[in-house]
Amino acid sequence: MENKIIPYGRQDITDEDIRAVIETLQSDFLTQGPKIKEFEDKFAKSVDAKYAVAVNNATSGLHIAVMALGLKEGQRIITTPITFAASANCARFVGAEVWFADIDRETYLLSVEKTRALIESKPRGFFTGIIPVDFAGLPVNLEEFRKLADEHGLWILEDACHAPGGYFNDSNKQKQFCGNVEYADAAVFSFHPVKHIACGEGGMVTTNSEEIYKKLLLLRSHGITKENMSENQGGWFYEMQTLGFNYRITDFQAALGISQLSRNEAGVLKRNEIAQKYKDAFKGKLKFQALPENCLNAHHLFVIEVKDRKGLYDFLHTNKIYAQIHYIPVHQLPYYKKIGYNSETDLSNSENYYSRCISLPMYPTLTIEEQEFVIKKTLEFLNV
Ligand SMILES: *Cc1c(COP(=O)(O)O)cnc(C)c1O
Repeated sequence: MENKIIPYGRQDITDEDIRAVIETLQSDFLTQGPKIKEFEDKFAKSVDAKYAVAVNNATSGLHIAVMALGLKEGQRIITTPITFAASANCARFVGAEVWFADIDRETYLLSVEKTRALIESKPRGFFTGIIPVDFAGLPVNLEEFRKLADEHGLWILEDACHAPGGYFNDSNKQKQFCGNVEYADAAVFSFHPVKHIACGEGGMVTTNSEEIYKKLLLLRSHGITKENMSENQGGWFYEMQTLGFNYRITDFQAALGISQLSRNEAGVLKRNEIAQKYKDAFKGKLKFQALPENCLNAHHLFVIEVKDRKGLYDFLHTNKIYAQIHYIPVHQLPYYKKIGYNSETDLSNSENYYSRCISLPMYPTLTIEEQEFVIKKTLEFLNV
């Protein structure tokens, strides 16, 4: 059968998106203009957060977020091995240590019990923060993590790159959107084209703390501000108060982000329809990510587990289905192996998961015919 390539994820750019970008290109501002604040305000509203700071990518967002949270050289954070390396790297950017706690074998998310066990195996004050990840789009139960963090005086930075539009209901039956920072101190999103909202490159940091918000703004733009300008100073006045970066997004990317954001809710619904179709086809035949009660998985990914993972990967690629692996456990990457902060921690759930996981195509414009082809080929290979 002659089919076109079916990737594991892809962006959807509409005529409306293109018009929005062109309009901004023809405006007075290519960067540092009004589209950025508009994007921030609309994004904050969409996830139910007070403040949002747009940046040039989520990796920059994670970097300035840990700095705004006060992470310093020699301090230690805990994250999950099953994530993109950037979730851990942000701590290394400031010279902090990265420790890993294992995942829950059913949800694939950082286990709150394993995190607690790791924290309580060390003296008080050993760790400074936790960076949980809404892996594949499944919301971490941050209410539980908040309780743990408060007991030990830790901050929480939620890596919500996979999860704009996902939510869990807390014990008060309140809907908690990923990145609403009700229980976390800050959260980070990515606008890389494989994620829900495509800006080319782009990211967003959300927080409900005015203090963190102000630090993020400073760090995003060289540590420079005009806020202390007084009447007798000239219009050129500015101060560099701290060592910051140029992590700004452009106005035309923000315009694309605004346009994309308006379709995200519909996109998440479509992703959930696709997930349901996969589940109906695979139920009782193979294992996939569990969905805890009262959660909406934003479904950046749809992950299944199979014994002959390499075999399935190769077979699907032969059929132009570009399934992907998420992720090689971060603690097994050569850089982290070399540092080996916590080589004594049991991470066997993560390693066992990694030996079996494969992400099937998941994006709103995946057609029914394409998905049926993916399902057919997967079941054909597994002979189930
Ligand atoms: C994509 C991703 C990032 C990094 O995003 P960029 O915008 O590419 O920097 C960080 N964390 C997770 C979990 C991601 O999936």
